[in-house]
Amino acid sequence: MLLKIALPNKGRLSDEVRELFNDAGLEVRARGERALTASLGGEFEAIFVRAQDIPEFVADGAAHAGVTGWDLVCESGRELDLLMDLEFGRCRLVVAAREEGGFASPEDVKEGMRVASCFPRLTQEFFARRGQRVAVVPVSGAAEIAPHLGIADIVVDLTSTGSTLKMNGLREVATVLESSARLVACKGNPVDTQQKLDELKQALGSVLAARDKRYLMANVPKDSLIRVREVLPGLNGPTVVDVLDGGDFVAVHAVVPAKTIYRTINALKGLGCEGILVTRIERLMA
Ligand code: AMP
Repeated sequence: MLLKIALPNKGRLSDEVRELFNDAGLEVRARGERALTASLGGEFEAIFVRAQDIPEFVADGAAHAGVTGWDLVCESGRELDLLMDLEFGRCRLVVAAREEGGFASPEDVKEGMRVASCFPRLTQEFFARRGQRVAVVPVSGAAEIAPHLGIADIVVDLTSTGSTLKMNGLREVATVLESSARLVACKGNPVDTQQKLDELKQALGSVLAARDKRYLMANVPKDSLIRVREVLPGLNGPTVVDVLDGGDFVAVHAVVPAKTIYRTINALKGLGCEGILVTRIERLMA
């Protein structure tokens, strides 16, 4: 069977999705300039559409799976299986108000206030849950301008660093939803589709698992081995290898967190280690 995966054709998520699929060995092969579909090799095919249309495509069965922002999945109101958090495209859907407007929390939102948002459903739901009746003003972009134009009193908008909100004189007063890029599928897939989806999950997951890890090799004085073990716990403890004519040294290999690599290197140097080598890992299957 051919597993069809809906992917964003442009916009914020498209480059990172492409990079992840490339790294997982599912690069786009044979695609025409404006082609909507492309082979990803083997039994995987990509369908390129707008990020916001992907939940519909997947829910309607035009694609078996899709990658898009969780915010867009929730806003669509379609029931989909969440298969995986892809960890990029992180952002928050927030309630924001003009800095000089005297809003400090969502309690300051008064009955009937106008809220501009590209996410009318999530906005309505958020305030309804709190028992607050607001008038949602649906917009298709640049919601942050609305309070300045007098179209709305507050906005519900996406933010990652908060800089666009700040630039527009808006202050966050509440979080509606935390989002990132997710792999989703339609519910109730038959067994053969499920198997292909598991393959896809494994391919993407092994790349994601490797991204924040490094493979470290070092020559370690034999009498430092016990203390090196504390610095390099590795996945299952470090691998220790004999070095031909290595004298008092053995080679140690371990998978370590990328974030603290400099600290690890310094600690190893402090223990008399030499020939320290660090490389990226393409995939990690624990
Ligand atoms: P697009 O409109 O196609 O550029 O895609 C927008 C999607 O990117 C959103 O639905 C979010 O899932 C994601 N995203 C990540 N960070 C941000 C951000 N700071 N602002 C807007 N969207 C973001």
